[in-house]
Amino acid sequence: MTPRCVLVLIALVAAACSSAPPERQIVDDAATALGGADRIQALAALEVTGSGPAPNAGQNRLPDDELPVWQVSEHTRSIDLANNRTRVRQLREAQFQFAGATVQRVTQGLDGDVAYNVAPDGTMTRAGDAAARDRRVELLHHPVTIVRAALDPAAKLANPRTEGGEQLVDITTAKGDALTLAIDQSTHLPSRVRSMSANANMGDVAIVTTFSDYEDVDGVKLPRKLTTMMDKYLQFDLQVAKNTVGGNVADLAATTSVTSAPAPPPPPVAVTVEEVAKGIWWLAGSGNHRSIVFEFDDHLVLYEAPVNEARSKAVIDKARTVSSKPLTKAIISHHHFDHSGGLRVAVAEGLTIVTHRANEAFFKDLLARQHTIVPDALQQNPKPAMFEFVDDQMTLKDKSMEVQLYHLLDNPREGTNLYAYVPRERMLVQADLYDASWQQHLWGENVLTNLAQRKLRIDRDVPVHGVIEPFDQMVKTIKAKPTIAGTN
Ligand SMILES: [Zn+2]
Repeated sequence: MTPRCVLVLIALVAAACSSAPPERQIVDDAATALGGADRIQALAALEVTGSGPAPNAGQNRLPDDELPVWQVSEHTRSIDLANNRTRVRQLREAQFQFAGATVQRVTQGLDGDVAYNVAPDGTMTRAGDAAARDRRVELLHHPVTIVRAALDPAAKLANPRTEGGEQLVDITTAKGDALTLAIDQSTHLPSRVRSMSANANMGDVAIVTTFSDYEDVDGVKLPRKLTTMMDKYLQFDLQVAKNTVGGNVADLAATTSVTSAPAPPPPPVAVTVEEVAKGIWWLAGSGNHRSIVFEFDDHLVLYEAPVNEARSKAVIDKARTVSSKPLTKAIISHHHFDHSGGLRVAVAEGLTIVTHRANEAFFKDLLARQHTIVPDALQQNPKPAMFEFVDDQMTLKDKSMEVQLYHLLDNPREGTNLYAYVPRERMLVQADLYDASWQQHLWGENVLTNLAQRKLRIDRDVPVHGVIEPFDQMVKTIKAKPTIAGTN
């Protein structure tokens, strides 16, 4: 070996010893860019205040329409970094027609592993473990928290790579949460954080928060814009009004009565059966999404497979107990996520899906999606879907039963809605047209106009939401409560 080779070798060894592995280098570079690892790790608290739109995925008029938006006028996230606590306070106002309170104050917190909610009157209650996990991961969708988590010696770093103008590294936190951090190749500031989540309707979704418009606050670089997407859907576009390093985070702890309470289990799924007419059953029980079963000569048809797989599977199982005839079809009233949450399990159960034609591409996409994080029945046992699409109307009829399906026309909120009418019983079966408990019936006049145009003589409303009522009462309630003019 020549002296020159020895020198080169020494230089190489020295370089190898002084530089961190590439996955660690990305995190170190990010920490340096944010203000230095020591500074980031010594931070006791952060507060982010701002405002921005928070769209509601799966609630648009048509599947490809713009999403209805909650405008968050006040957003404050306080983070007690030293004690691992956070609380988000929001004041939000519906920018769409909504049957509930259109101005809402939402306060949610996390104290270590304990998630809690605070009611407007200040009452604090414990939230479930799923909420705790979601909030813990959501908290990591900030440059400071993700870099601190990545600097934790118990974190695992892997798969360093360069894509476009970003360097990426996969992080498994000390708590076991998996996220990907992307940093800008030139500034080394965090540009994005990505985590995967299981959505009841969409299955595996990427939650990505993009950071931009960094400012310097007391020697720490903080983004003034945080934009969170769930796949293609915008979830929250936060324009920061003020970043505060430190601040008062004394009140973020959960009360002892909350921390000592057990985490509430997921809500139970109970399905009750009530025969509301010959060959027609109303399946209610827990929650406020009911389904209706119609008995034909040689088969049963379900109206509505709502909420999620658990609810809809329980409903399908219960529907199969009302008669020995096979359940063959599920009418899905419209595409809103709370009403189509049972689409996949209905297909997995071999049911033909009856729905408005405008849902075709959207439903086929939902059926094709991957559900690997929480494998559902269709993921485990794939089946081809069978559809019957309705345009303006369709009649299901044999000697035992006649059910007419009608498309709700010109409604400002419901573009794919199919309601049902049973002429023999003069019965209306509907979802989202009316719920007696709603605070306001903003599209009630449109509903009454639709029913009048179809020349339906209705005695009784058997709803997906709410209670069974005489039609007279439904009309009275709609007319008594204020409606916004010009919404037909
Ligand atoms: Zn609904």
